[in-house]
Amino acid sequence: MATHLVNIENEQEIKQRLEAERARLRKIAGLDRPEHFHRPVERAFTAEQRAHTTILFGGFTWKHEDLIRAVFQGCGYRCEKLPVPDVPAFQTGKEFGNNGQCNPTYFTVGNLVQYLQFLEKEGLTRDQILNNYVFFTAGSCGPCRFGMYEAEYRFALKNAGFDGFRVLLFKDSDGIKAASGEPGLKFSIDFGFGMLNAMHMGDVINDLIYQIRPYEVNKGETDRVFHEMVDALCEDLKNRKSFEIEQSGPNWLKPKVKKNKILRNTLNVFGKWHENMWGKDYLSALKTARERMDAIEIDSTREKPVVKITGEFWAQTTEGDGNFHMFEFLEREGAQVLVEPIATWVAYLMYQAKAHAKAKWPVNRPHRTPKWHEFKKQFANYIGLRKKLWGIAAGEKMWGFFYHRTAKNLGGITHHLAPQTELAELATPFYNQFARGGEGHLEVGKNVYYTVHKLAHMVLALKPFGCMPSSQSDGVQSAVINKFKDMIFLPIETSGEGEVNAHSRVQMALGEAKVKAKAEFEECLKSTGKSMAEIREYIDEHPELKRPFYHVPHTEGVAGTAAQFILHVSKRIDKDTRFQKKSRVRVQSAAPAMGD
Ligand code: SF4
Repeated sequence: MATHLVNIENEQEIKQRLEAERARLRKIAGLDRPEHFHRPVERAFTAEQRAHTTILFGGFTWKHEDLIRAVFQGCGYRCEKLPVPDVPAFQTGKEFGNNGQCNPTYFTVGNLVQYLQFLEKEGLTRDQILNNYVFFTAGSCGPCRFGMYEAEYRFALKNAGFDGFRVLLFKDSDGIKAASGEPGLKFSIDFGFGMLNAMHMGDVINDLIYQIRPYEVNKGETDRVFHEMVDALCEDLKNRKSFEIEQSGPNWLKPKVKKNKILRNTLNVFGKWHENMWGKDYLSALKTARERMDAIEIDSTREKPVVKITGEFWAQTTEGDGNFHMFEFLEREGAQVLVEPIATWVAYLMYQAKAHAKAKWPVNRPHRTPKWHEFKKQFANYIGLRKKLWGIAAGEKMWGFFYHRTAKNLGGITHHLAPQTELAELATPFYNQFARGGEGHLEVGKNVYYTVHKLAHMVLALKPFGCMPSSQSDGVQSAVINKFKDMIFLPIETSGEGEVNAHSRVQMALGEAKVKAKAEFEECLKSTGKSMAEIREYIDEHPELKRPFYHVPHTEGVAGTAAQFILHVSKRIDKDTRFQKKSRVRVQSAAPAMGD
């Protein structure tokens, strides 16, 4: 020991030993030659491969997916939608994926692997699968695990033996320009407008099916009609003729556009836009769809609690094991489900882009501290931000306009998109709107919005197990519930297992919502001073009141569909002197009979 101490008393040697040890440890840790992560270089999906390559996608409702597939097919692609993810897909995802992911990752990754395994069982070789299929999906840079999806897909595919399977990304931060860079998948104007139509129609139809089905008189009619109607819309999207000014323009213009490429392209953009938004074929397809849906017979006097669905994007959209078949369950239990359109999330992204631009401008502005007389710099600071904000605001306006226009053309009873500014303001006391990821402040904002405006009797938040942003939201929802005493809010964690447990929790909350809906209905009926028999008699005499697209004006402060409806029917009776006279005569003639 003493010798050892003597040896290291030498300063120089201490330094040398330290250096040697440091070098040894750095070598072990690989710090001298760090291997940086590089995004794997994907095999190209080229235009020549288009004819024999099938694009796979999934993750929405069947309505969205059918319509999106039709747009792909209409633009000349082979395309298939993946099945709705189920529990075996979730388990496959867990088997081949990383540990500690949120469950949409497992469901979606496992679903893709399962589908490829199915193709293999059908007789395709792995090479055929790798060469003839690609997967098209959304991506993001985070901050939640959404940013890891692409890497997760690749990881699980590799583990499952499909190394090299191509994953094409559509990034939410880049919008439609985010082509994978592969000419095999080309974002043309027709494709862009077709997708816009498909997304909006999918949202609107999804909203409508949940509004109509709980009130259908003939069981199964809504599902049958909606399937037929969506098929017909798909045919329209698939076979829609692409507008080309050289063919469709007036004769005097044709030689001019032939010579002038810029003129030709500009006119083509406007022509395609018009054709996809106001074209005769498109509008007539929507009209036919509207007429089909309006032929469904409904009974709007059924008193039902309205349950607003919020939560994480995927869990609130999927219609299978991913959220315990929650919509089906709620309808079976006698509720009306108010689903969330995907358009809200897109509107949220645009709203956030605006808010971020404003918040970051003090740092991003071109001139930090211009003097009062430096007008040019002051102006540059002013206009730079405005240009950004105006651009996004124009996008927001157009998005809202086209969504509501589709809603109007498909019956006009679809719920409007919730205003983003109000959602952010309502959420702000509880949740910072700059805490991004997933639905951000939307879960809190929607919960308050649907409660204070009395648009639903209960709010049900569906969030996947392990979801980071939803866990944050849940943390503050108890403060929200404390503030709004009449709020019925239930968060459900969808973990891939425990369906019975989740259903029983929903049943309990739904019990309260039913009581709330019943009390509201009875109060409304009492306020009319009429009996249900009288109201029903009037409805029977006026068949238009049994049609889904009969417009019932919204009464502030009333959430229930039936309560709204009887209030409206009562107002109509009050104005209908012929019916009142008839009723009086009937009551008078019934009186002696009763006396007898
Ligand atoms: S929002 Fe939640 S569930 Fe969705 S990807 Fe992010 S962490 Fe996962």
